[in-house]
Amino acid sequence: MWRWSKNVAVGLSLVLFLAAVVFWVRSYWVGEEVVRSQLRMINVAPNSVRTSEHHTFIRSSRGRLRISTFSGEGLQRGQLGSQMLKIYGDAGGQWLWGQYPPDWLDVPLKLDRRVQAWRFGYGSSHRQGMIYGTPDGPIGISIEGVVLAPWWALAAVFAIGPMWRASRIRRWWRRRRGLCANCGYDLRATGATCPECGMAVGIAHPQDRGRFGEGTMAS
Ligand SMILES: [Zn+2]
Repeated sequence: MWRWSKNVAVGLSLVLFLAAVVFWVRSYWVGEEVVRSQLRMINVAPNSVRTSEHHTFIRSSRGRLRISTFSGEGLQRGQLGSQMLKIYGDAGGQWLWGQYPPDWLDVPLKLDRRVQAWRFGYGSSHRQGMIYGTPDGPIGISIEGVVLAPWWALAAVFAIGPMWRASRIRRWWRRRRGLCANCGYDLRATGATCPECGMAVGIAHPQDRGRFGEGTMAS
């Protein structure tokens, strides 16, 4: 079970690595955005409207991935007509996807906490008051957050698992052919120790048909 879940993790990691490389290259040709948007407005007594919204923006452009969220909960004066209630009364959200010319992504200056280093970035805000900064909009609480990372960094993280696994496959393949698992030196005519790198070859050599990683690395 443990081995099985490790294999799944490495396979998933490989898929994510390949996806990161594809998006990395693609982001210089086309900017892309996926938006998950949820807006709900309902009438509450007396004479006020409750607004609740949650948005997630995922953007890829000029070699970077940027994920940001905005959540707002607030009250506004007035009452909504039946037409407006029909549009905004439902809490169901929607997914939107769009393309635009590649552009630089950043951590917005309006955020209270901002960190930018190399091409990474983080920002967040937690505010009370006018949600959109306009007096006719709702008054309440808003929470905003942004994370920004270069695609190459994501690709590098996802490459760790598959590279580790590939090195084990290489060791297995070398042992199978009677070569030193450590350095690839031909061991078919030699004894218990690799003359090239000094690694102990072990008992199973050279007919070792063990599974990946269950090697003969004696030390
Ligand atoms: Zn060796």
